[in-house]
Amino acid sequence: MRILIIEDEGKAAAFLHKGLTESGFIADVAENGEDGLFKVLSLDYDLVILDAMLPRKDGWTVLAQMRQQHRSMPVLFLTARDAVSDRVKGLELGADDYLVKPYAFTELLARVRALLRRRGERQPEVLQIADLRLDLVGHRANRGDARLELAPKEFALLSLLSRRQGEVLSRLVIAEQVWDMNFDSDSNVVDVAVRRLRRKVDDPFAVKLIHTVRGMGYVLEAR
Ligand code: CA
Repeated sequence: MRILIIEDEGKAAAFLHKGLTESGFIADVAENGEDGLFKVLSLDYDLVILDAMLPRKDGWTVLAQMRQQHRSMPVLFLTARDAVSDRVKGLELGADDYLVKPYAFTELLARVRALLRRRGERQPEVLQIADLRLDLVGHRANRGDARLELAPKEFALLSLLSRRQGEVLSRLVIAEQVWDMNFDSDSNVVDVAVRRLRRKVDDPFAVKLIHTVRGMGYVLEAR
């Protein structure tokens, strides 16, 4: 589970990062609203912890813009004071829950877990794109009646491309999401993995689903 912390106060951010990491999450920190929004739009987070008062784009603007861009992951909003108007504004803009500073970490953790549980219940278990059928729970992939035999990383890569169908994903994003690490930009690990995946998912079938977008990355869609 990957969580983004958008918080400009260094100490608070470091404290959250440490606490969440110790609780078994992968946590990233963005120190201002602009950077935070960029990260939300380019990576696949399971949850965002968003401070209201931020430099270079406040929390409400970040929230409104990420929802406009169809990023639907749960958002836990942090407000500095218990002002009803602040809370209402956050919830109206699409926050899923809020906490008033100062908060106890144990309470934040409980809210984070509750939000992730709720999200888990909402997630589709099966994705269908053309004749590709992906069972995310059973870890099975089919094209029509043909079962695709995929290695775990191949399945992870196909899941990522399918969950974000129609969206061009850069090699960097794919590397971070599937391998949870950055590769050197000249590394061809992603290209090799995509080639192997295509051999199983596309080569035996007439309709190709995985497409290369020159200079940008890869996209999965039925054209
Ligand atoms: Ca702040």
